[in-house]
Amino acid sequence: MTETQPTAEKEPRTVVVTGGSRGIGLAIVQRFLAEGDRVATIDRTARPVEGVLSTRADMTDTAAIDAAFTQIEAELGPVDVLVANAGITRDQLLMRMTDDEFDSVVDTNLTGTFRCVRRASKGMIRRRGGRIVMISSVVGLYGGAGQVNYSASKSALVGMARSITRELGGRGITANVVAPGFIETPMTAELGEDRQKQYKAAIPAGRFAQPEEVAGVVRFLASDDAAYVSGAVIPVDGGLGMGH
Ligand code: NDP
Repeated sequence: MTETQPTAEKEPRTVVVTGGSRGIGLAIVQRFLAEGDRVATIDRTARPVEGVLSTRADMTDTAAIDAAFTQIEAELGPVDVLVANAGITRDQLLMRMTDDEFDSVVDTNLTGTFRCVRRASKGMIRRRGGRIVMISSVVGLYGGAGQVNYSASKSALVGMARSITRELGGRGITANVVAPGFIETPMTAELGEDRQKQYKAAIPAGRFAQPEEVAGVVRFLASDDAAYVSGAVIPVDGGLGMGH
């Protein structure tokens, strides 16, 4: 019989989660806290979360994002893991969608992610290591009526992660995309019972997911076990997108 070796304790890391003070982001924050990591959030409203450095920046504001990272690095140390999770929807049918409805969603979800990745990668490149996880959506690759803006912003994250992988893969940096399906959050709770039933019938798992189920996959992508996973899209959707 072979003896099981105790797992070596891992060094705490500095983890930044955008949109980390509620919903899926908060579940991700709690997962990293449970791992013993140092965690900071960046939101528009800096809602305090126990044990977390809460900073405030709008994803559309480059200077504010840069300042938030500077504060985080000063207080918690160089950023090891970035989880770009902040995102919005402004659903509208294509024919009625205004430029502003399109641009604001792309500016927050896509350009906001770019702004954070660019800032976080500075230190990662210098230290030759880092993990970038972007939260997309099943809608990014599956499409969604009334979501031309949102879907475009979320599918573009795949190209971004793959380009980062090609650019920075040789420096110990990975970039991956997590594509959640229907998650039990206030957003999905607002759907009427009939709509929920309809959606659940289309999901092979027959249910919506808990935010913690997304957090577990994010945590895996940030772990040593995922050191050779990069440029991947990992769906967490109960089979809805069939792996895309
Ligand atoms: P919530 O609406 O509950 O939370 C969004 C978070 O993002 C908030 O903390 C919010 O902060 C922050 N945020 C939004 N806009 C900005 C901005 N301009 N600048 C800074 N922070 C911002 O979202 P969910 O938890 O439901 O979703 C999280 C992510 O997961 C999103 O990217 C979403 O697209 C994606 N997703 C969600 C699904 C779901 O079923 N809920 C399914 C698939 C993907 P503040 O309140 O301060 O504005």
